[in-house]
Amino acid sequence: SKVPPKILNNGIEMPQLGFGVWQVPDDEAERAVATALEAGYRSIDTAAIYGNEEGTGKAIAASGVPREDVFVTTKLWNADQGHDATLRAFDASLAKLGLDYLDLYLIHWPLPARDRYVDSYKAFEKLLADGRVRAIGVSNFLPEHLERLIEETSVVPAVNQIELHPHLQQHAAREFHAEQGIATEAWSPLGQGKGLLEVPAIVAIAQKHDRTPAQIVLRWHIQLGNVVIPKSVTPSRIKENIEVFDFSLDTEDLAAISALNEDRRIGPDPAAFDVG
Ligand code: NAD
Repeated sequence: SKVPPKILNNGIEMPQLGFGVWQVPDDEAERAVATALEAGYRSIDTAAIYGNEEGTGKAIAASGVPREDVFVTTKLWNADQGHDATLRAFDASLAKLGLDYLDLYLIHWPLPARDRYVDSYKAFEKLLADGRVRAIGVSNFLPEHLERLIEETSVVPAVNQIELHPHLQQHAAREFHAEQGIATEAWSPLGQGKGLLEVPAIVAIAQKHDRTPAQIVLRWHIQLGNVVIPKSVTPSRIKENIEVFDFSLDTEDLAAISALNEDRRIGPDPAAFDVG
């Protein structure tokens, strides 16, 4: 594959760049995932709440790519937290995906006020021990939530998937993850494609390298060591977003992008988010 692996803390290899399918309806997800697999993506990021595990699974099955060559991530939805509910939700997700094992299972949000993420994670540890999933992790966890998990359970999460892009660079979280051996995975790596791709500094770097702004932002993540999962349903953009392994940003480019940090979220604050 053209995408290098990130080695997770249990030795499992996860492609450093994958394909996200949030907000893509099931039938459209089937087409988009098929296009992504054809373009060389070997990692797909879905979630129970996205409602497109079936389309995602169908595209993988139809692709002709061997199962062991695709890294599939899905996420436990908030309403299904709790030990037994987690085990049931895992079975339901796997059935929708049409798979007999999963590569990575994530707790979608910590929901600290409900206080069920430790129990949910203990169910994840059982799924891991039973060989039903190759790696377990979390999403939208703040360092304080990770600290509690590490204290009260035995498997350090392999991944924390968090909102991360040049306007929200997450320095403290990335540093904490590095200390604990947790891979940082960036959601909305392109800042959802809104203003970020028109920022003059990014446009200038794109012109300098004869690349697109999206490729520059993705390359910045890659050089920082982040796992990224850009989303698009447009075939030309799906192809463009994986073509980031044949050029490099120099220290000046990296510094210019790092200067864009505003600690500004697009999505909700994980300490307060409590829906579903
Ligand atoms: P993103 O940053 O990947 O941006 C996607 C949008 O950017 C597209 O809809 C399109 O408008 C634009 N775009 C994509 N490629 C482009 C290109 N080459 N040129 C110009 N514009 C382009 O945003 P996202 O979908 O929010 O995040 C990516 C993935 O992260 C999701 O699909 C999902 O899998 C995951 N995610 C997870 C969580 C979570 O809570 N764990 C939350 C949000 C997203």
